[in-house]
Amino acid sequence: MESMHYESPATVAEAVRLLSDAPPGSARVLAGGTDLLVQMRIGRIDPALIVDVKRIPETRGVAVRDGALVIGASLETMTLRRAPDLEKNFPGLAEAAALIGSDQIQGRASLGGNLCNASPAADTVPALIVLGAQAEIAGPEGTRRVPVAEFVTGPGSTVLGRGEFLVSLHVPLPAPRSADAYLRLIPRTEMDIAVVGSAVSVTLDAGGTCTAARVVLGAVAPTAIEVPEAAAALIGSTLDDAALGRAGQAATAACNPINDMRGTVEYRRKVAAVLTRRAAAKAAERAAGRN
Ligand SMILES: Cc1cc2nc3c(=O)[nH]c(=O)nc-3n(C[C@H](O)[C@H](O)[C@H](O)COP(=O)(O)OP(=O)(O)OC[C@H]3O[C@@H](n4cnc5c(N)ncnc54)[C@H](O)[C@@H]3O)c2cc1C
Repeated sequence: MESMHYESPATVAEAVRLLSDAPPGSARVLAGGTDLLVQMRIGRIDPALIVDVKRIPETRGVAVRDGALVIGASLETMTLRRAPDLEKNFPGLAEAAALIGSDQIQGRASLGGNLCNASPAADTVPALIVLGAQAEIAGPEGTRRVPVAEFVTGPGSTVLGRGEFLVSLHVPLPAPRSADAYLRLIPRTEMDIAVVGSAVSVTLDAGGTCTAARVVLGAVAPTAIEVPEAAAALIGSTLDDAALGRAGQAATAACNPINDMRGTVEYRRKVAAVLTRRAAAKAAERAAGRN
């Protein structure tokens, strides 16, 4: 390792300046470090400059603003999970956040880091996409918003350009009779990476018919994938077994997974159907209990 420089700016502008002034590819943003430090330790990356964004207030809070829950990009999941009404408004996002690592990992790991690390198996990414979350990015040209659905462009790559970093995530508050759910399968009981993850959000009318839905799968393609065919199978139904079955089949058809030590292609396709059916049923049950 060459010499490494560490900075912890207190403002968005200072972080942008540090990242913009660094030679291309030489700087890395640090949030909790639960991915970054592991990658440095195994020699996958060797940054000359680390920009720790945890002192920047805009990356730290969690609050409702302008009809959305605004989550600071570097806020640790343990603190996020204690936010008032997180579980009530976004039970699927809360369950995805609760799945990351262990209590120790969650004392550091952030949602921003989970998204910017751009792993196909990241647990909170499908959960954020089904909620229509937006990413607020700061950079040399000011700030911009990008749907989380478009943020990750491939394994390890994102839309972030030179000098840019993620400031916060904006999750619209749910409409009445709406709810989400996230389920994943791992080979062990905890501390492993998803074989498949499935996030579903649904909105019901007063009679229990589904009027809107989103379905997103993780770990079955280079990025999290939205499955509009699965959503279409749910919309207009009362989330009966036949509709759930069709949504599961659509999830299987949309998968483009790899074979690895956690599961074969065939296994992942089957699991995608099972988890999608179950997550949709769970989201529907939650939505039915809401006004
Ligand atoms: C033991 C263990 C278990 C784990 N279990 C899970 C699991 O079950 N599910 C799961 O999804 N993940 C898991 N992870 C991975 C990791 O904990 C998560 O991805 C975590 O959310 C990363 O957040 P962080 O704040 O630690 O990110 P960091 O490690 O600080 O950063 C991760 C990447 O994102 C970049 N980055 C971070 N913040 C920003 C920002 N604001 N703007 C721009 N770039 C940024 C960094 O430069 C780096 O490339 C596990 C990791 C470990 C070590």
